[in-house]
Amino acid sequence: MGVGSDLENTVTPPGESRSSVAKYIRSIGRHYVLAVVVMTVLIGATFLTVKVALDRHSLQQNISYLIGRQFIRFQQLGNQTRAIMRASADPNMPEYIVRPMLKDVQGAIDDIRAMSAQLNALNVEVEANLLERLNGRDAASEKLRLELDGRLEDFLQRAERVVTAKLQDRRERYSFWGPIDFAVSSDSMLMRQFSALIESAHDRSDVSIDHTRLISAVLLSLTAATLILATLILFIPLLIKLRTEHRRTLDFEIKLTHLAHTDTLTGLGNRSSFNEALNGLFSSVERTGAGFSMLLVDLDHFKAINDSFGHPAGDAVLNHVASALQKTFRAGDVVARLGGDEFAALIPGISDTATLEGIAERAVAAIATECRFEGRLLPVSASVGGAVVPGHASDEATLMRIADLALYAAKAKRNTAVIFDEASFAQRLEQNRLAAALAFAADRDEFVVYYQQKVNLQTGEHLGFEALVRWHHPQLGILPPGRFLPLMEGHLINSMTRCIIGIVARDLRAWKAAGLNVGSVAINLTEALLVSQDGYDLIAAAVKANRLDWRDFAIEVTEDVFLNRGADQIAETISRFRKHGVAISLDDFGTGFASLVHLRDFPFDELKIDRSFVAEIGKDIRSEQIIRAIIDLARNLGKRCVAEGIEEESQRHFLLNAGCEIGQGYLYAKPEPALAAVERLARRPALRGIAGRSRRLRVESIS
Ligand code: C2E
Ligand code: MG
Ligand code: MG
Repeated sequence: MGVGSDLENTVTPPGESRSSVAKYIRSIGRHYVLAVVVMTVLIGATFLTVKVALDRHSLQQNISYLIGRQFIRFQQLGNQTRAIMRASADPNMPEYIVRPMLKDVQGAIDDIRAMSAQLNALNVEVEANLLERLNGRDAASEKLRLELDGRLEDFLQRAERVVTAKLQDRRERYSFWGPIDFAVSSDSMLMRQFSALIESAHDRSDVSIDHTRLISAVLLSLTAATLILATLILFIPLLIKLRTEHRRTLDFEIKLTHLAHTDTLTGLGNRSSFNEALNGLFSSVERTGAGFSMLLVDLDHFKAINDSFGHPAGDAVLNHVASALQKTFRAGDVVARLGGDEFAALIPGISDTATLEGIAERAVAAIATECRFEGRLLPVSASVGGAVVPGHASDEATLMRIADLALYAAKAKRNTAVIFDEASFAQRLEQNRLAAALAFAADRDEFVVYYQQKVNLQTGEHLGFEALVRWHHPQLGILPPGRFLPLMEGHLINSMTRCIIGIVARDLRAWKAAGLNVGSVAINLTEALLVSQDGYDLIAAAVKANRLDWRDFAIEVTEDVFLNRGADQIAETISRFRKHGVAISLDDFGTGFASLVHLRDFPFDELKIDRSFVAEIGKDIRSEQIIRAIIDLARNLGKRCVAEGIEEESQRHFLLNAGCEIGQGYLYAKPEPALAAVERLARRPALRGIAGRSRRLRVESIS
């Protein structure tokens, strides 16, 4: 199962979780509104209850106050009435004194009655009060009130009778103590009842305050409880849910980050995680000065594995390499797949090249272990390049470039580890510069031709030249082909050869015009030029443009032509050359892969024995035997034999004895510029007459 589907199964994406949270928040919103309504109702109820209770309390206070006032008025009335009675008993009391007293008594009676009416109205109001109705009336105090009302009325009527009686009546009726005593007794009963009623009114008022307190406390507690419950029931689950969602989002992000940093095929880190780790290591180098090292790993022939065994096999190889690297490195090291068949490792704490070399070699060996896929053994090997920090680089770009150079060097050998060193870097840098300059060498006419003589070994007679390219580098001077040919690719070799053939053709025309007989000039052609026929066309064009003879040219090809895919086309091109009488040499014979079948079928004219054999003449008997065999072979096939690199007389002697008649080498002449080459010819007695012509040639070419 892929990591992607794994993610889908285990983690809900944040978008989905957000919508579920939104749904949840909506439902919580509804509950919240309900809670607010409940609380509002509770608070309203509390307010109303408190208001009702306070109304009741205030009515009871009024009642208690009015009873008190009525009581005082009642006492005043009692006293005033008694005072009238006493005054009435005095026959000398003038009427004009008694009359205002009577008026006062009547005023008190009216006041008391008015108060009673008010009290009745207040009692009706209290009875209508909700709390009063819920609590129920106090039967004892109600009874007391009614009794008091009756007695009071009784008392008032007596007092009224006193007021309304005629003077004479009053004198007669109230000159006795009896009625007064009765009045006093009923008066004292009333006083007790009054005080009892006042006390009861007070008590009821206190009770209503207590009720108010109790009810409001209960309602407020309910409100608080609702609030707390709403918080607990509604918000705590919401908080828990939000927390869970937050965790899930974090998990998702962690997984995403992991995915963004992981190579899905091998499970190793990918390029971005590698870059981050590299950044981190450079920062720690700045902070602590602790160094580290880096290895770049590139598989050898990975494309061939994919092409020949299929992509599943390629994947198996990549996984094999990943696990080999994981086994090679420690936990703190960073191993990543940068892409394709490129891997890399960062090793913190290792900053010396010797230790790194050991680790890199272990990695190469671990990768080269057996790798099987569907029962088949897959060929796996890798090239590893490494560099250390701060020894080799102090920034990322330099480190990558340097490790890459080391990897490049390793790739030249394959299945090898190369740790960067200054010398190879300088060489590579030089090669890069040369390669860059080479691109313009043909256009700037920087290629020159040196000619090396081919001679008859017996007589020393000049037979022809081999044209050998040199590069006149603007700063470095004349460079031999060994310095720049390996750096050249297809089209550059093409344009270089065009230059060479052009120069040789012009020289040949000049020499021929000067009447010199220099023999044929051999041109070294690469396989590509023969496969594509470009080589043929170049020579044909040169022959035509300079009105030369095809035979003025000879062609040298190496044995590698036999291994070329286009060997048939090469053979065809060669045949076309030969039809024009152009001689074909098989160069560097003995060092390549020519088999006898190739020799039998390939159309050529001469074999050139490689100078590595010639150099061993007199030193290595086996090389001598090989030379003899080659010479015999050439003779038996009816071909000429040419020996290269003859530097000593003994070599010439051996070759002559062995039957080789043509040679080339420093013993006769080094490769030289055109003028030097023809002047050499002029000095030879066999070619008298050439000297004068070559001098003319020099004058012509200088002018
Ligand atoms: P080659 O075609 O085998 O050329 C002979 C090489 O042997 C030349 O090296 C020549 O200088 C060297 N040589 C000849 N006699 C002696 C000797 O007595 N002692 C020693 N030590 N060396 C001797 P050079 O000029 O450096 O060329 C090297 C190779 O470069 C040539 O090997 C040929 O393969 C290639 N090359 C040269 N010019 C051209 C060219 O124009 N086109 C192509 N395609 N390749 C060329
Ligand atoms: Mg050659
Ligand atoms: Mg050669």
